[in-house]
Amino acid sequence: MTATQSHILVVDDAVANRLVLKRMLEAQGHAVTTADDGDAALALIQAQAFDLVLLDVMMPVMDGYEVLAALRERPDWHRLPVVVVSAINDVESVVRCVSLGAADYLFKPVNQTLLKARVDSCLARKRVHDSELAAALALEAAQRAKSEYVSLISHELNNPITAIRGYADLLLKSIGGTLDGPQLEGLQAISALSRLMGELLHDLSDLSRIEAGHLQLLPGAVTLHTIVETSILAVQSNIAAKGQRLMVMLPPGLPPLWADGVRVVQLLTNLLSNASKYTLPGGSIQLDVCQRDAAMVEIAVRDTGIGISAEDQPRLFERFFRVNDPAARGERGTGLGLHITRLLVEAHGGQIWFESQPGVGTTFYCTLPLMLQSETDAVRPQSSLPPGVFQNR
Ligand code: ADP
Repeated sequence: MTATQSHILVVDDAVANRLVLKRMLEAQGHAVTTADDGDAALALIQAQAFDLVLLDVMMPVMDGYEVLAALRERPDWHRLPVVVVSAINDVESVVRCVSLGAADYLFKPVNQTLLKARVDSCLARKRVHDSELAAALALEAAQRAKSEYVSLISHELNNPITAIRGYADLLLKSIGGTLDGPQLEGLQAISALSRLMGELLHDLSDLSRIEAGHLQLLPGAVTLHTIVETSILAVQSNIAAKGQRLMVMLPPGLPPLWADGVRVVQLLTNLLSNASKYTLPGGSIQLDVCQRDAAMVEIAVRDTGIGISAEDQPRLFERFFRVNDPAARGERGTGLGLHITRLLVEAHGGQIWFESQPGVGTTFYCTLPLMLQSETDAVRPQSSLPPGVFQNR
């Protein structure tokens, strides 16, 4: 068989039929292997790659229906097209074969021109499917490689950057008083910029893992009280430093979330941190939690900050998007926070949206799944979360 030839398996219990089909197909340039019953055909399909099967329906040992049913059970065989060959007065069996997954049919005695037309069109369709699959697999492999590369680089860069920040902070603490103005400013810039670089690396690593489908959500029952408390702890020094007021409305008795606690803290911290960053000193931030319905909770993070212009609003969740407003640009950021936040909310089956008025303030809303009363950790299946995002943290 040459590399460009298609390999066709002819399955028929009658030797004369096998030989006629084999000869016709070889005359059309295909390589042909034959089998005299369904069992033998399946063994051959298991052992070698075929591009098409021509399958007789009526065979004594294992008939064509059973072969089609067996092919259906194996996902890796779904792409193998089968053309059934049936008696002319047996339209019912053709209908049954098509419903079992046969790609096309031919009546006996087989007409050579019709055989060529059917075989060529099945092979052409398979070639298109194969190349689409190959492209999808190549894309997946490229994304995996990119994700691994970004993770590796992030990890390698993170250690020296953490050390730079540590030394800068140490110098600021120990010799801060003896430094002149520009020296002090220099050290403060080193500290702040290395912190920003650390955040950027962390965001990039998260993003590449989410996009490659390698971020695993570990859902479980988590109390909203713990989530809110932990998220506030992460941002309270920034809020205090800007003299802002934080109010929290968390009604008692809410059921726990069914979520990955670490990731929910991450997304809520992002929203609270943005609320503080993009609100002037002395402004206020409010965190409201309420049960939306039996299955979802709604969290709102309101601020009295600079707001977002109507022009910038549609692009807010894009990755690396930062608005052009000098008031916002004055704050350090990566432009990845909201993009990642949205991916995390959606990975939990929730939604995120916002309302904003420049000069008045912004409210971000998100919904997240509650643990349903009838469920326990043990019985809620992990697959109840939407597919696609997660394998290992
Ligand atoms: P970052 O804050 O790192 O720049 P984000 O993705 O978190 O990135 O936010 C993107 C942009 O959206 C920010 O640069 C900012 O301009 C705007 N933004 C986000 N949250 C708010 C908010 N609460 N109020 C006003 N602008 C905001």
